Amino acid sequence: MQLFNTLSRSKETFTPLTEGRVNMYVCGITAYDYCHIGHARSAVVFDVMVRYLRSKGLEVRFARNFTDVDDKIIKRANEENSTSEAVSEKYIAAFYEDMDRLNILRADLEPKATQYIGEMITLAKHLIDTGHAYATPSGDVYFRVRSFAPYGKLSGRNLEELQAGARVAPGEEKEDPLDFALWKGAKPGEPTWDSPWGPGRPGWHLECSAMSEDLLGLPLDIHGGGQDLVFPHHENEIAQTEAASGKEFSRFWVHNGFVQINSEKMSKSLGNFVTIRDIFGYCLPEVLRYFLITSHYRSPLDYSTEALDEAEKGIRRVYAALAQTEDVLAGTKWSPAAAPKELTGELTDLESGFFQAMEDDLNTAAALGHLFGMVRLAGRVMEDKGLRKSIGGKEILERIQANFAEYASILGVFDTAPAEFLTTLRDKKAARKGIDASKVEGLLVARQEARKNKDFAESDRIRDELASMGVEVKDTPAGAVWDVA
Ligand SMILES: [Zn+2]
Repeated sequence: MQLFNTLSRSKETFTPLTEGRVNMYVCGITAYDYCHIGHARSAVVFDVMVRYLRSKGLEVRFARNFTDVDDKIIKRANEENSTSEAVSEKYIAAFYEDMDRLNILRADLEPKATQYIGEMITLAKHLIDTGHAYATPSGDVYFRVRSFAPYGKLSGRNLEELQAGARVAPGEEKEDPLDFALWKGAKPGEPTWDSPWGPGRPGWHLECSAMSEDLLGLPLDIHGGGQDLVFPHHENEIAQTEAASGKEFSRFWVHNGFVQINSEKMSKSLGNFVTIRDIFGYCLPEVLRYFLITSHYRSPLDYSTEALDEAEKGIRRVYAALAQTEDVLAGTKWSPAAAPKELTGELTDLESGFFQAMEDDLNTAAALGHLFGMVRLAGRVMEDKGLRKSIGGKEILERIQANFAEYASILGVFDTAPAEFLTTLRDKKAARKGIDASKVEGLLVARQEARKNKDFAESDRIRDELASMGVEVKDTPAGAVWDVA
């Protein structure tokens, strides 16, 4: 498998250090607010990566942390007249709710920073003992950036350019503006722990170095996160871990691209900040997940409701084809004709295309293209009167159905029963457009009654009323079904 490594700025062949086993660590959330679409993207990207590696028979040990002590959490706790602990607990619970609905598998290891204070203190002490860090009179500990020669290797920045932009904030006792905090001495109103430098709390970067080494060992096979973490967070993690251990921290560094909102950078100040919950108010969680894999994970992703609508149409097409496939397979008497060779050959190409795309730096966008090829192929089989009743056609449809079950477990979409998905989607669209589903059902019963009584004027009137509400009615052998136009 080819995987883009931020460290080498190129695609490399990914093989785990220990055959058959992958150690993977992804930086999790700072639990001070509801998760936004950027978190959703990162979660889905690495969830697909874990699922795909497992589908290849690799045993993946996956750790994702929670930052539960941090400036932002403390600020939020003070604003809400609460404690850091209560704030982080609340937003970790919200994280699980959102991620479960997005069909994100739980990580094997989900450490919280506050569970690793002892390990962080040990690491900071070791860095002081080896000359890579120093304590200040007020009880802060800083990493001495110039003591670690490769600093900047991940982000491609050099010290001179960083020096030019670095400032020492008032009250900081840094030797060098480049240095970053490993430990922060106690300030009033903050949670603190005892340390050799007096009471205080860890700096943000330290936790990932301490937890990943403790839980997974060095080197990691894959360290991941959003692109915004490359600098300074991951650069600092590398400095801490490699300076302390003398070992390589991670063999692969994988970063997902940004999410833009209507082509603008998402930020709270621009007011274009979208939480996962906001989006679930608009579309089904599975539609959001599908939308997030429609572009390659390293590309910027442009979020808009129009883009969600497009994704919704796309996934609906897949489910409609799967539902129709189910119906055809359930209700057909088969004639003993084989499928034309070119059709089975086309299907084989699409199947290998899916895996080639996934092997090529997890290109889900291209992989989905092959799935749509299968949807079209199923459509061609079902539209062909002869083929749809032949054993050959049946074999193609069954193969496509089985493929989708396999891809569903890798992509985490297409795993709902087709009829259920279509009904749920219809109800979501109805709610979005203010259509009262129970009123529609009532009108359909009245229409049925009118038709039974041969009152065609009334049944036509009801049909027009439904149409004016934006409801489409289709009569099937099983009765009338409705959808939102
Ligand atoms: Zn981290």
